[in-house]
Amino acid sequence: MTVRVRIAPSPTGDPHVGTAYIALFNYCFAKQHGGQFILRIEDTDQTRSTPESEQAILDALRWVGLDWDEGPDVGGPHGPYRQSERMEIYRQYAEQLVAQDQAFYCFMTAQELADEREAQLAAGEPPRYAGASLNLSEAEVQAKLAQGLPHVIRMKIPTEGLCVIADRLRGEVEIPWDQVDMQILLKSDGMPTYHLANVVDDHLMGITHVIRGEEWIPSAPKHQLLYQYFGWKMPELVHMPLLRNPDKSKLSKRKNPTSILFYKRFGIMPEALLNYLGRMGYSFADEREMFDLESMVESFNIERVSLGGPVFDFEKLQWLNGEWMRSVPLEKLWGSIQDWAINSEYISHVAPLVLPRVRSFSELFKAATPLFNGYPDISADSFEQGDEETLAQLQFLLWRLEAPGAWDKPRIETEIKTLAEQMQLKLRAFMPPLFIAICGSKNAVSVMDTMAVIGPDLTRNRLRHGIEVLGGVSKKATKRLEKRYQALNALDEGDTGP
Ligand code: GLU
Repeated sequence: MTVRVRIAPSPTGDPHVGTAYIALFNYCFAKQHGGQFILRIEDTDQTRSTPESEQAILDALRWVGLDWDEGPDVGGPHGPYRQSERMEIYRQYAEQLVAQDQAFYCFMTAQELADEREAQLAAGEPPRYAGASLNLSEAEVQAKLAQGLPHVIRMKIPTEGLCVIADRLRGEVEIPWDQVDMQILLKSDGMPTYHLANVVDDHLMGITHVIRGEEWIPSAPKHQLLYQYFGWKMPELVHMPLLRNPDKSKLSKRKNPTSILFYKRFGIMPEALLNYLGRMGYSFADEREMFDLESMVESFNIERVSLGGPVFDFEKLQWLNGEWMRSVPLEKLWGSIQDWAINSEYISHVAPLVLPRVRSFSELFKAATPLFNGYPDISADSFEQGDEETLAQLQFLLWRLEAPGAWDKPRIETEIKTLAEQMQLKLRAFMPPLFIAICGSKNAVSVMDTMAVIGPDLTRNRLRHGIEVLGGVSKKATKRLEKRYQALNALDEGDTGP
């Protein structure tokens, strides 16, 4: 048997370090067994998927040094590798399960489902689909279909007993069937859900091992049952421990940068990032800390993955990166630094901002600091008024700039001006805290230009850093700020609305 593994990211945002982490373990497993590593894009959620996000995921994975044998850009014998191009495949499988009486048409409306849910919650029961359409007769179903009533296809799920899932790292995992909902397989618009498309594609693409994050364990019973219904052999399951923030919560961008592009922009070497991800939940028998991809493949052993939640600690990553910088030949290091930001492309953006402020080469470095450093060297005292309003201002701007869209000076300017107006602040009052958070000083190159040049990932994280330096925003305070932010924007819509 040839080992075939895959990663199946959904292109709905920035390329996440968690994707590279799972990709790395899949890659090592495949290469160690002389197998193939496949990249499949799961873009069935058409409202959230974007081609930009897909491209960024591909670029980021290549940047860290992981290459795939089959995928949307390189092709392969089992394509297409983008689920949106495989739509006609899924319906026929959903219909097959209806014909086999293992799935059924469900005609419940959104309102009926919401009412059902509310009644269950009121009765202290866990909300679930109660099975109203389960017992419709064939004639009733045909009549409803003939009327053109909107419908979905749901899979049948046993109501009692235990589902036992075999996981390579965890042994047998038991999940009571009554905790598993009658999953929608095909949505009313004819789109498959993740569960159907994932199982069908893993089968058609000959996947032998599914190595993915542990957040998918609760979905495994549905997948296992689908394999049984179709009469297909199920791939072996390996659920990896999730990456954690230092406080052990699930890795989140509020507490830790999560985008690979941030680490690239910060000046982390791809080898160091990959090395660090390799250490997440994994250790070499000889406990060495530094290793490259090749040696990880050579001595890889999936059984050595430990299940205690691995903590992704940026401080440790920076330490390791320093070790990498010192260990590679100077020529290679210089090449990496050039790729990072010492190249004519980047300098062409920096020069117009810096040149008007200097009289000699020796003044260049100080003036250009905001365009090259990671986080500015600031403390709460750096902000003239480190009060709640300053915090609110930085947080609101961060939320505005987290929305997807173009990243250029006109947009940044519009976001800043709109927010200042909403908060009834003159730009003269609005700008100083921004200068501190982004440039580290009020007396610096243009802050809006700096944000445009350093890009979205570093900008957003400098804002987060500024918020942290000012004491951070607790969960409770976030709720308060969210309300105020919504009110500001609602007001705005009212003003400019028709
Ligand atoms: N599309 C899923 C994700 O975004 C894939 C999960 C899986 O590997 O089955 O993570």
